[in-house]
Amino acid sequence: MKELSQYKKYKRIAVMGGSFNPIHNGHLVAAEAVRQEMDIERVIFIPAGSSPHKESDPMYNEHRYLMTVLATVTNPDFEVSRTEIDRMGKSYTIDTIRELRHKCSKDCEIYFITGADAIAEILTWKDPEELLSMCKFVAVTRPGYDKTKLKATIDTLNTKYKGNIEFLEIPALSISSTDIRNRVTAGKTIKYLVPESVENYILKFGLYGAGLSLSGTEYINKKLYSVLTPKRFRHTQGVAKEAVRLAERYGADTDKAYLAGLLHDCAKCYTDEEKLAMCRQYNVPLDDVLYAQPDLAHSFLGAALAKAVYGVKDEDIINAIAYHTTGRENMSLLEKIIYIADYIEPNREPFKGLEEIRELAYKDIDKAVEYSLKNTIDHNVNKKRMIHPLSITALEYYREGNNEKR
Ligand code: NAP
Repeated sequence: MKELSQYKKYKRIAVMGGSFNPIHNGHLVAAEAVRQEMDIERVIFIPAGSSPHKESDPMYNEHRYLMTVLATVTNPDFEVSRTEIDRMGKSYTIDTIRELRHKCSKDCEIYFITGADAIAEILTWKDPEELLSMCKFVAVTRPGYDKTKLKATIDTLNTKYKGNIEFLEIPALSISSTDIRNRVTAGKTIKYLVPESVENYILKFGLYGAGLSLSGTEYINKKLYSVLTPKRFRHTQGVAKEAVRLAERYGADTDKAYLAGLLHDCAKCYTDEEKLAMCRQYNVPLDDVLYAQPDLAHSFLGAALAKAVYGVKDEDIINAIAYHTTGRENMSLLEKIIYIADYIEPNREPFKGLEEIRELAYKDIDKAVEYSLKNTIDHNVNKKRMIHPLSITALEYYREGNNEKR
């Protein structure tokens, strides 16, 4: 949130809390209506972080934040805060309001605007009584909402818990995020339901299955583009093409090689915390080495995501993704192809031994694997990193096998 002094000048401030997955015109109309109705000077949109009440997908946190920024940027009275998105662990409203209270002047009135459903459950939130005493709540509802039940809930909260809750029906809230996600997945238009910038963002990054009607690899490329840095995306394209060349050379399935190459690094660009959280979410077992070096887990997490998110069913492709960093004994031909393609693809910055491996790769893939394993282990020893046991046993295995051939 902003520097202390910038909030001190306000007397009435509102937090607009929600998942905003995605933000839509109903949210914007609601925030603007409350701003005017309650004479609010500043509305701070706070996309919810890791919700205490549901499993959230860290992949979407940044997207939800950026879409909220795009949607609100033209309104001078609106701003967006990263406070819950950046908070480690579960995100509680009481912590957000305490933080804001600390930054505002003593006589500043704080409002919290959110959907009526959420407010009806406020007693299940953290420290509800303190929360109810710290700010005023505005429960915004969509037409057709059961107001009798809501009024009864609000009356109880206001009398028994000395809350200060009002509700406001917003016709534009007949738009809902769930409906927008479903429409996108079904390939239906969302024009005029969300700001144009948000619509373009959803399509550009293939959120909510946008573009599922595209061919499989077009869809995967769009999705990868949204989760990888440009450099990593370029590397991925290079690996996929190199894998196809190697598959042609050794008589492997070129389609499988292309797909495994495209997806091998699909989990690479998440932060270490996100990788660990996603490993828990997708039941990826972590041994001590992986736990200490979460970046190394990207290949095993990538294999889990390839299955769960990208719909890959072929076990050989899944294994090629899983073992592309550590290697392992007795790799399948596809596993060796992806391991080597990752090493030698044309966009790789030059390093010692690269040209030798490029040459070996097309002469004898097992020797190329041995050489690459040795090189990688030496490099990591120099960098004082832990070496995964899978790499050590893999090197022994290929060294012995190649010695027998020699
Ligand atoms: P949600 O899943 O996004 O929304 C629940 C319902 O309320 C949906 O129908 C949603 O419609 C609507 N809604 C949500 N935010 C809205 C808004 N600002 N304006 C209008 N409608 C809105 O929300 P949630 O996860 O329940 O969270 C809502 C807020 O409560 C968040 O700020 C969250 O952090 C807070 N919360 C705190 C705790 C806690 O501290 N323990 C627990 C639960 C919730 P759309 O889908 O169309 O948005």
